[in-house]
Amino acid sequence: MPVDWDKTINEILAGTLACQACDAIGDEMIVGHTRSPEAAEFAKRCEDCEDKSDCDARKLVVVCEPCAGRYRVNGEPMTEAGWMGVQMDECRRNLEESLDYLATYWKEEDGIEYADMARRLEEVDPETFREEDGWRVRLEEEYLALHRWFRERRLRVPDPGWRSQYAEDVVALGYTSLLGD
Ligand SMILES: [Zn+2]
Ligand SMILES: [Zn+2]
Repeated sequence: MPVDWDKTINEILAGTLACQACDAIGDEMIVGHTRSPEAAEFAKRCEDCEDKSDCDARKLVVVCEPCAGRYRVNGEPMTEAGWMGVQMDECRRNLEESLDYLATYWKEEDGIEYADMARRLEEVDPETFREEDGWRVRLEEEYLALHRWFRERRLRVPDPGWRSQYAEDVVALGYTSLLGD
């Protein structure tokens, strides 16, 4: 099912911030990262994780002070706008990684023949390509929802030049982007 990012964002943030772990409300929350597997239950990035009992991925979370201690969150107190900016940074980093993978990192995966490195991922392994491309579209949809959040409040989008740089990189690789012109 497609994620409705506007809804996801607005549910979490109706003016104040809600702790993702215990639903406590406040003007400020701790925003940061944790590798604690227990945090997979509520971290947004782990929604699709198959085994949540054993996920030590680096997770971005927004939590109240007591939950920050409980889940060992490496972070700092932030307002709603700060949290949105951090999510945008994270989304951009993920998009850059996804693009790097499509461009070249896939060639280093196990099972990729040296002779295939001169070809494109969609020719060599169409299924992996579809997965990665689908993930990138989801990230771009999230990006657009975050962008709308800043626009609707007439807040400056941090580092606005990032978007055109990214779109150019996608086009130069021969792919399309929801963030393009
Ligand atoms: Zn909490
Ligand atoms: Zn996970």
